[in-house]
Amino acid sequence: MSKTFKAFRALSLVSSPSATFASGGRVTPNQKFLVLFGAPGVGKGTYAGLLAKDLQFNKISTGDEIRKIIKGGEVGRMDPALVAEVKKIVNEGRLVSDDIVLNILAEKLKEPASQKGVILDGFPRTLSQLAKYDEQFPVDAVVNVELRGDILLEKLLGRRTCIGCGNSYNVCNINKDEYQMEPLLPKKEGTCDKCGGKLVIRDDDTEAVITSRMREYDEKTLPLLNEYKKKGVLMNFEVKKGVKDYPKLLEQIKPKLGL
Ligand code: AMP
Repeated sequence: MSKTFKAFRALSLVSSPSATFASGGRVTPNQKFLVLFGAPGVGKGTYAGLLAKDLQFNKISTGDEIRKIIKGGEVGRMDPALVAEVKKIVNEGRLVSDDIVLNILAEKLKEPASQKGVILDGFPRTLSQLAKYDEQFPVDAVVNVELRGDILLEKLLGRRTCIGCGNSYNVCNINKDEYQMEPLLPKKEGTCDKCGGKLVIRDDDTEAVITSRMREYDEKTLPLLNEYKKKGVLMNFEVKKGVKDYPKLLEQIKPKLGL
């Protein structure tokens, strides 16, 4: 067990992950496991939110949970030095340790909302995370969400995120080649529709950090695609119109999940 994980477990919000992993597999025979795969900013989070609502699955976004930890949502329950370390890693566009994300997964899987199914957004992100995941859980379908690089960058730079609930908006208006993505604006400028929180640019949505996140994605995450191909669970989905592509995505995913 790594030093970071020991500290995390001793001082953090979580109980032993092995308690969850020991039960293994599906908690109910029909529980589904869907992975949304793709580069940062491609729209996984938005699609995951919509799918969670329509399919009544639990959305598990390791990035959202890590941001909650950094924000101090777990104040008094997690070692401040460890929080500072996580914040530094995220703000440099690097990946946090497998132990931390596996703990997050274990906790989220315990939620009653996970019983029908889960949507994994931003996990697994390395071959070792996938190997540890595979030891315990099945994968029913993986959607590789694809978007051209230059559009991706524009979208990331236009993203605005609620500091209260993490909900995402986008100020950029893309209308070129075959791409038509309208801005995703809140009703009141700078304010989240859902919780009234302030909308900000994420610390890691700056050009320098985006470069580092993309490098991590290319080097550490992209190789997972081959593994999913071998398992026969991979489906590609090309984004052209952002949220307007969602109904098509939903229709393509349902049969893959036997729904
Ligand atoms: P995201 O919101 O998914 O782009 O994640 C934001 C940041 O959280 C990433 O750049 C990483 O620093 C960290 N993170 C999220 N998910 C993972 C993961 N599965 N493994 C390692 N780091 C992660």
